[in-house]
Amino acid sequence: MTVRLYAMTCGWLTGRMKDMIEGGEGEVRLPIPSYLIEHPRGLALFDTGMHPDCRVDPAGRIGRAARLFQFDYGAADDVASRLRSVGRDAARIDFVVNSHLHFDHAGGNALVPNATLVIQRREWEAGMADDRAAAIGFDRRDYDLGHPVVKADGEHDLFGDGSIVCVPTPGHTPGHQSLRVRLEGGDVVLAGDSCYFCRTLRERLLPRFVYDRDAMFASLDRLAALEAGGARIFFGHDAEFWKSVPQAPTPIAF
Ligand SMILES: [Zn+2]
Repeated sequence: MTVRLYAMTCGWLTGRMKDMIEGGEGEVRLPIPSYLIEHPRGLALFDTGMHPDCRVDPAGRIGRAARLFQFDYGAADDVASRLRSVGRDAARIDFVVNSHLHFDHAGGNALVPNATLVIQRREWEAGMADDRAAAIGFDRRDYDLGHPVVKADGEHDLFGDGSIVCVPTPGHTPGHQSLRVRLEGGDVVLAGDSCYFCRTLRERLLPRFVYDRDAMFASLDRLAALEAGGARIFFGHDAEFWKSVPQAPTPIAF
């Protein structure tokens, strides 16, 4: 059984390094990844990038947080366009696994109309709690769109064969999750924002905005354990690392 994993860059954000990692200086350019996973029994995306409105009116779409970033988000950079450019159709995606519900990870859900969302229950409940969602940077317009939702409690095996498994990595947000993908040569772990950069893991330096620091440190321990077990960690927004990742239509080989 063959699983194929493809990386797609869905635009870039530039922000302040000090927001991304303790002690950071200057500016940092952040790739916005989405991944396509082809399994014999279905197609999945891990994260969907930003909503197309971020291209023309970032402040209208994400409010004051827009002041933290410069947007480099072209007309062909949204997830549906990226899929189209490699001959895939967003309407045929079966599952969207969102690492979490921030605008640069779930904003493209609107472009994937027929998918079932797979999200940790804690994340979904935080996102649907009117008194809490905005405070942690969630906006229901990104994800409350009528998709069926699988609310996972802990590890969730997407196709029931161990090849694609959601791994809870909370801390950045209440119910952040990563995705372990079993390729022929070994396991890849798509870390999402549980680990922005390689340095985050090596030096245990957290970003400025964290929902739960202790949980985030524990999640970094979990990633380190997976890495020690032979998995390759794919960092969430690491431009240097991203250079080493082939873009679709070239599949990622372990
Ligand atoms: Zn992010």
